[in-house]
Amino acid sequence: RLAKAPLQVTLAVIKPDAVAHPLVLQAVHEKILENQFLIVRSKDLVWRREDSERFYAEHAGRFFYRRLVEFMSSGPMRAYILAHEEAISRWRALMGPTKVFRARYTAPDSIRGIYGLTDTRNTTHGSDSPESASREIASFFPEFMEREWREWEEPLLR
Ligand code: ADP
Ligand code: MG
Repeated sequence: RLAKAPLQVTLAVIKPDAVAHPLVLQAVHEKILENQFLIVRSKDLVWRREDSERFYAEHAGRFFYRRLVEFMSSGPMRAYILAHEEAISRWRALMGPTKVFRARYTAPDSIRGIYGLTDTRNTTHGSDSPESASREIASFFPEFMEREWREWEEPLLR
């Protein structure tokens, strides 16, 4: 038996700043494995500007929005559906705080603490709630059927 409780799924993204550097991409991928996340799906993709605008619509009007939209459509990303007990909070803890200086000083061993470049180019994304996880997974992996995955998961819980 591999898990004690149903596994939660979350969307994790390695952002263009990290994918551009093969050693950083590899290091973040290894963090995922070391922390016993189950990789349910993964894919590499590039966003058009409109994809970036839509995904970050909640930040429209913030001073960093343009910069964020341009950055996220500037090159390839890698997206994962990760499963774990408490996957959402666990992945966010592993990423560390959004802003690079806070990450450096309060969570120096976190992914952003180690690899974050600026407040915008901060290496990774992670869903922040079960609702955003469902929405974000559907937007990155429209073919993913949570119901099918639950059947696949069942033997792990037995
Ligand atoms: P998180 O990615 O930690 O959930 P937010 O949802 O608040 O953070 O912001 C989305 C993304 O926008 C961040 O990951 C970062 O790339 C960028 N961002 C957030 N706040 C700032 C800021 N103050 N200055 C520059 N970029 C920012
Ligand atoms: Mg967020």
